[in-house]
Amino acid sequence: MLQLQADLHTHTIASTHAYSTVTEMAQAAAETGLRLMAITDHGPASPDAPHLWHFHNYKILPRRLSGVWLLKGVEANIIDDQGTLDMDEKELSFCEWVVASYHTSCVSFPRESVRITQGYRKICEHPAVDVIGHCTTDAFPCDYRAVLSCCKEYGKLVELNESSIQWKAGAMKNAREVFALCKQMEVPIVVNTDAHFSGLVGKIPLAEQLLSDLAFPHSLIVNLDADRIMELAAKKRGIRFSGAYDN
Ligand SMILES: [Zn+2]
Ligand SMILES: [Zn+2]
Repeated sequence: MLQLQADLHTHTIASTHAYSTVTEMAQAAAETGLRLMAITDHGPASPDAPHLWHFHNYKILPRRLSGVWLLKGVEANIIDDQGTLDMDEKELSFCEWVVASYHTSCVSFPRESVRITQGYRKICEHPAVDVIGHCTTDAFPCDYRAVLSCCKEYGKLVELNESSIQWKAGAMKNAREVFALCKQMEVPIVVNTDAHFSGLVGKIPLAEQLLSDLAFPHSLIVNLDADRIMELAAKKRGIRFSGAYDN
């Protein structure tokens, strides 16, 4: 069984189409054996995003909850084909983990492969971004090999998203192609639930089957070891993972 130590894309009731509090999410994370969880509610372009104060006030949340280390992050929206996010540098500075994703509700340009590919390539150059979120849906076609090559070049983690491959059109089929390429190109990945309910935190049955079918190397799945993520966060943002409120 593939046991994650870190789930790095989850939502709380701060996004109104999610249904659990951060306390409930952390308890569920502890119960499922996680050592680390990132909460990543939606950036402001999403119709049900929290107010920006949600991110500004992150300092009051402890570093550890129910024995699980917390990264207080965001799922920021890529809003064009130039790699622009819906949060500026100052707002992103309040966040400790940044997943960058395309969502149909947050873009108005024609979703053509050449433009989506360019958007992903540009977002790879964004220094605040840690993860390229769910790039496998039919809604955002792109040149996977070109995008993955940029992810590798700029050190962005490619996400295999359990929720996406379960619910989004084409995502499972496309994920087989994307993660076969990640294996071939040796691109590091993270497997996240994108849980919108506490019962789903840390549970990845479909992703596990897909990775098993591909004989995907565990050494490329960065969040099988929470220490690897904590090292990244420490190096990039100076987070110390010691006392309850240490930053
Ligand atoms: Zn998303
Ligand atoms: Zn999400």
